[in-house]
Amino acid sequence: MKITVPHYYSRFQCVAGECPDTCCAGWQIMIDDASLKKYRKRRDPFGSRLKNSIDWENSAFRQYDGRCAFLDENNLCDIYSEAGPSMLCRTCRAYPRHIEEFEGVREISLSLSCPEAAKLILDCEEPVRFLSKETEKEETYPYFDFFLYTKLMDCRDFIISTLQNRELDWNLRTGIVLGLAHDLQRRIVNDRLYETDSLLERYGRKGAVGKLASRLLAYQIDGESRFDGMKELFGFFDELEVLNAGWPDYIGRIRKVLYGAGESAYETQRQEFYEFLEVSEKRRETWERWSEQLMVYFVFTWFCGAEYDERPYEKMKLAVVSTLLIRETAQALWKEQGGVLNKNVFFEAARRYSREVEHSDLNLERLETLFREEKVCGLDRLLSLVMG
Ligand code: SF4
Repeated sequence: MKITVPHYYSRFQCVAGECPDTCCAGWQIMIDDASLKKYRKRRDPFGSRLKNSIDWENSAFRQYDGRCAFLDENNLCDIYSEAGPSMLCRTCRAYPRHIEEFEGVREISLSLSCPEAAKLILDCEEPVRFLSKETEKEETYPYFDFFLYTKLMDCRDFIISTLQNRELDWNLRTGIVLGLAHDLQRRIVNDRLYETDSLLERYGRKGAVGKLASRLLAYQIDGESRFDGMKELFGFFDELEVLNAGWPDYIGRIRKVLYGAGESAYETQRQEFYEFLEVSEKRRETWERWSEQLMVYFVFTWFCGAEYDERPYEKMKLAVVSTLLIRETAQALWKEQGGVLNKNVFFEAARRYSREVEHSDLNLERLETLFREEKVCGLDRLLSLVMG
């Protein structure tokens, strides 16, 4: 089996009690069946505590004030310290690692929702590289569509290298890969997946980038459409399951700062924000780099999952819409802080988004439905928001 990880993966270290937003609070931690069995069998005093601190009906740890029943006052885990790491459930053992499995391949990424992982992902100055190694272990999947998977992998390689082309602005790189995912989806729907190679050849041809870029420039829109479009995208949060108790207030505040004073105030704020970014080359480059790392992160994590539902276009929309929402949230935080935006603020905006959206299958599915059904997520409208 081939195991693939981003190059910064081995640098991850949990800071446990020092963590500013421990993963053991604020959301429900689900327990896998094997761990539940192990907890049920435990016969010592710690076993009694396990029995009383698990919500057996919902297979989750009980919580007190939003904190896991096993989290002590120093933000350390009592299961880890009193029963040992082998007693941790699968979720706690794995987090913040996110695993995607395909036939013969396991891809492991770090989740943006963990503050230490977010630093590694977003503070990375160089383009991310992906490292692979072979292991002896092999697994087979009875219903695996290897042809689709290979085409998705080919497209993802192209998409990531386009997203890492720093000679182009972020919006052009993003517009190009959104267009590619759209064209790929059409081929899947029309049963013409075999045309993927010629599609990639067309996008990769000499001079293609220049032509695509000049077509994309036509998508730059006026302030009114942008105000309406972004406000609508923020409205998607109303349709999602709330995972963290503080989220509705936080995101409500962000929306108010951005859209509460109407369209012309929004446009003025946006112009001021972009003037702030343009003040120095370094600041602009950093903003572009953060946006690149977000896109690469979302694409690497989710794009090839289309092997299971044949919907790569929605996976790409997840990357694009998420990055747009995080960038816009950062603009609101810049405004709130009196015209200052440091990296910790940006990383925190990205982390909170990920923690609310990426850890709920319900939210991911709901978003994909909205991406399919809502006009604001049509190709033209999304390209306008990316280019605007
Ligand atoms: S969120 Fe990350 S750094 Fe914090 S306790 Fe969890 S794994 Fe450790």
